[in-house]
Amino acid sequence: MHYEGIIKKYSRYLPVSGKTPVITLNEGNTPLIFSGYLSGLLGAGFEVYLKYEGLNPTGSFKDRGMTLAISKACEEGSKAVMCASTGNTSASAAAYSAKAGIKCIVLIPNGSIALGKLSQAMIHGATVLAIEGNFDEALKLAREITSEFPITLVNSLNPYRIEGQKTGSFEICDCLGDAPDFHIIPVGNAGNITAYWKGYKEYKQAGKSTALPKMLGFQAQGAAPIVKGHPIKHPKTIATAIKIGNPASWAQAEAARDESGGLINMVTDKQIIEAYKILAEKEGIFAEPASCASVAGLIKLSKTGYFSKRKAKKPTRITCILTGHGLKDPDRAIKSVKMPKVIKPKLKLILKEIGY
Ligand SMILES: *Cc1c(COP(=O)(O)O)cnc(C)c1O
Repeated sequence: MHYEGIIKKYSRYLPVSGKTPVITLNEGNTPLIFSGYLSGLLGAGFEVYLKYEGLNPTGSFKDRGMTLAISKACEEGSKAVMCASTGNTSASAAAYSAKAGIKCIVLIPNGSIALGKLSQAMIHGATVLAIEGNFDEALKLAREITSEFPITLVNSLNPYRIEGQKTGSFEICDCLGDAPDFHIIPVGNAGNITAYWKGYKEYKQAGKSTALPKMLGFQAQGAAPIVKGHPIKHPKTIATAIKIGNPASWAQAEAARDESGGLINMVTDKQIIEAYKILAEKEGIFAEPASCASVAGLIKLSKTGYFSKRKAKKPTRITCILTGHGLKDPDRAIKSVKMPKVIKPKLKLILKEIGY
């Protein structure tokens, strides 16, 4: 059957009815890829899977939530939506608004978003305003404006965003036949960890899975308010998608951690770039830096022996969410490797360079 996105696929678990107009770009249904390299790092008895959310229509998991947020906004008669964004929310909101034929207004922190994401919001026709401030300030303004004017807020404070995003856990359970033992995920504004935990609980409740994973969230060290226990006024990290100092879903992220017996920890930019290169070089997967906080977290925990504490007869299964596509931020890739060598167009010179 022709796949038509997460609302059609999982409608019985979502707040939709026959009257909901379905605005979709056929998001979801992303691959869960076995990682031989990362499984090998952990040793016998472990299986690591990568959920490649960069393959969503606009290149990040935000599309899962946006299809529902925009569909519900249309159902409710809204003519305009607004978001504050580190980039991917604006790219997604702009694309789904274009499809729906409604107005989209985006507030971004000036100079802090990757070029690919900015180009998406602009080409889809959103009104983009670059605020001289950070994401947290932009979100505060978006909340104020949308509470006063007939504009729908489509940040993850919008409950439909969380509802849509929880389908990621349904797909993982459908694919593995049950929930994984550990679920590792980058944490920025903390909507996604909230959504996945909700999804795992609901799928178990519905009898579609028998267990719940431990939720392991990773923030960037320079933007780790939940780990440090206080908001960070000037968050700093190269992983711009998680450069957030005061997450909107802070309490829900802590609940996911505590109810599941998991943890929220942090990784340095250096560890993030290491994981970024490992994914590209060993697995052929290009994921944007923020995404790689999950794999950096896996590697960090593996070194402390965290995972070897479990004794199971079945393999211990770990899923890492790769939240966005590497092409979003090509500048970062180029900064992380050596530039190509420029040589004269001579056969002999080329053969010498490549060792033949
Ligand atoms: C939005 C985003 C995150 C952070 O997700 P939250 O729900 O804000 O915690 C991580 N990675 C990428 C690529 C994102 O776009």
